[in-house]
Amino acid sequence: MLIAKKIRLEVSEQDAATLEFMQGKCRGLYNWWVMKLRNGEKWPGWEKAKKTLQESKQHDPELCFVYGKLLAEVYFRLHEAMKAFFRRVKAGEKPGFPRVRPRHCFFTLIYPAMYLRVEGRHLTLPTGGGGRHGPKRYPDIIATLTEEAPTGYRDVAISRDGQGHYYASFVYEAKEETHEHDGVLAIDLGVKTLATGVNEQGRFYHIGGFKGNRWYNRQLDKIRSKRDKCKKKSRRYKRLSQVYKRVSQQKRNKQQDSLHKASHLIAHKLVERTVVIGDLSQRQMVMKEHRERNKHLNRAVFNDWGLYTFTQMLVYKCMLYGKDLVILDERDTSKTCSGCGHKQNMPLWKRTYRCPECRLVVDRDENSAVNILKRYLARLGPHTGDPVRCADGFTAIDDVLNTFEHI
Ligand SMILES: [Zn+2]
Repeated sequence: MLIAKKIRLEVSEQDAATLEFMQGKCRGLYNWWVMKLRNGEKWPGWEKAKKTLQESKQHDPELCFVYGKLLAEVYFRLHEAMKAFFRRVKAGEKPGFPRVRPRHCFFTLIYPAMYLRVEGRHLTLPTGGGGRHGPKRYPDIIATLTEEAPTGYRDVAISRDGQGHYYASFVYEAKEETHEHDGVLAIDLGVKTLATGVNEQGRFYHIGGFKGNRWYNRQLDKIRSKRDKCKKKSRRYKRLSQVYKRVSQQKRNKQQDSLHKASHLIAHKLVERTVVIGDLSQRQMVMKEHRERNKHLNRAVFNDWGLYTFTQMLVYKCMLYGKDLVILDERDTSKTCSGCGHKQNMPLWKRTYRCPECRLVVDRDENSAVNILKRYLARLGPHTGDPVRCADGFTAIDDVLNTFEHI
């Protein structure tokens, strides 16, 4: 299992300029290829594409000042992007053709481990040129790591955040831990609570997400409107732009942090061996519909947790801690009564499930979580009339139902 440790870098002004130069050139090369591919050229695979680098260098001699391994990495990345594109086309998903990388985003630079040096807190990143290419325009970058680097890393990715801080992410192999306990935890990813989980013993977990989005958005609006009243490029304008960047980065960090904590809790702290979540692809359709219908209200009706990111985190954290993550078709899990199987419409504003048939009254998300658990244990298809139960699923379902009757 590969994981990455991200460490902030301190770089001199000159080295920052070098990094900016190199990422600009790499992005240029990447975008040039993307445009070619968009115009119908066939992707020749990374090996053949890499051979065209000499040609590209003749076209743009400045490419010689970029470290060669970084340029080679551009072809690998494009290769991966194209592979993912074809895989999605084959699977009938949204294709998502590789996109041109915008200028304001830092194009991540990836150094293979053997080409850089870490000495104590100093990280040396080579640049291009020198030797037979004549004198180097940019000397090698010597950055200071704010934390100790991990050992045994394979790649190091250099990135920059919205505020202009540089980071090095060390990708390394982590030892997998295994849990002895088993059991299943079914999770419903919701709009009010980030995740509601239930295990076979009928115990519920409510895991909230970051609630400060609305507050942050209001602050950001204020700063922007203040800024827009100033003369462009004036000192105050620039300062407020800085503040804006800082605050929006802060918001992103807090959001990410809460997702990390929640996924860590599920993947590491809870004892259940198997984690079951619903498939998000259908969820997004429902959300979109909901948003369309509530457009006139002009406000977010549900929290934007970043559920996609959250499931991605769950995927890798479950792998890291040796758990099984199962992604299940979650169709109708919120509509169906977890007690008797009765179905009714559940618009998003209805927070409590009230069953007219068996009089079950239960929290909406808890109801869905139980349904997901039941579906996992019984391996029910979405619209199968007859439940096909696996032998060991029986008792578990009854246990959950028993605990329900006490509510
Ligand atoms: Zn019912």
